[in-house]
Amino acid sequence: MKALVYHGAGKKSWEEKPKPVILEQTDTIIKIIKTTICGTDLHILKGDVPEVTKGRILGHEGVGIIEEVGSAITEFKQGDHVLISCITSCGKCEYCKKGMYSHCEKGGWILGHLIDGTQAEYVRIPFADNSLYHIPENADEEALVMLSDILPTAFECGVLNGQVKPGDTVAIVGAGPIGLAVLITAQFYTPAKIIMIDIDDNRLNVAKTFGATQTINSSNENAFEKVMNLTDKRGVDVAIEAVGVPATFELCESIIASGGHIANVGVHGKSVSLHLETLWSKNITITTRLVDTVTTSMLLKTVTSKKLDPAKLITHRFALKDVEHAYDVFQNAATEKTLKVILINE
Ligand SMILES: [Zn+2]
Ligand SMILES: [Zn+2]
Repeated sequence: MKALVYHGAGKKSWEEKPKPVILEQTDTIIKIIKTTICGTDLHILKGDVPEVTKGRILGHEGVGIIEEVGSAITEFKQGDHVLISCITSCGKCEYCKKGMYSHCEKGGWILGHLIDGTQAEYVRIPFADNSLYHIPENADEEALVMLSDILPTAFECGVLNGQVKPGDTVAIVGAGPIGLAVLITAQFYTPAKIIMIDIDDNRLNVAKTFGATQTINSSNENAFEKVMNLTDKRGVDVAIEAVGVPATFELCESIIASGGHIANVGVHGKSVSLHLETLWSKNITITTRLVDTVTTSMLLKTVTSKKLDPAKLITHRFALKDVEHAYDVFQNAATEKTLKVILINE
């Protein structure tokens, strides 16, 4: 089969690899129908994720058809259409028993990280009974690719941890695919105001069409002052960080109202200053989380019932064999106006 293989920082190629086989009886082999590229894949390609070794097939999102099941699989059979979760979970370890699948002792985020991933014609999924979801008939499979990672990540790490409530004022810092997914899932809770902050006018315009009530371009406006003006100098009830650099997290610290929640979603590579000299008395809560995908079943229902439309995050489509070109387009997001790309295994 063909797959996108990582060959060290800055190097990748679409090349021939052995088709995966069942290694444990709890595995399935899946023929990929559609997959995508994540910001995390770009971090890996920069060399930021040293656990990813040369020769690894990238990708942790997608939908597919079951080709083969191990003898211990009870929930799935050959020919089933399935959604692949970015988080693999054994369902039996201490963390899984607590619903913290992200920290499963035998799984967690392993696809396209510690084991071969989904940017390939076929993929092996361990603990498949716990790590796959049936796709209902007539569902929009392309939209469901957004449920492998970005929708549950945005909802669990941003909206749930941020405790967004009706009437709240919410600021989302970062209008990339994850920030926009926070924006659409935050609206389950009818906040009064959602202020989107980014440095890309195109993404801010997209955010307005997705329900942002105000937008701030922090490259040419003072984001702190503008948020204060929009909130009668109180600040926001919930600040969600969806970039992963010190400046954006510190902006969240500066705009949070007393009693507020700062929910981190971004992947950080550097330390961030914690301004306890101003925050110590403000009754605020700061949260971090790796997505557990405990809300995937719920999100699947909201998408299939058309209450939520994640397909609007998709801007570009490519054949899977053109994945290297798709990476270029995804990487040059500002000039190409890219949000999420879909790769189709034809
Ligand atoms: Zn991802
Ligand atoms: Zn586990």
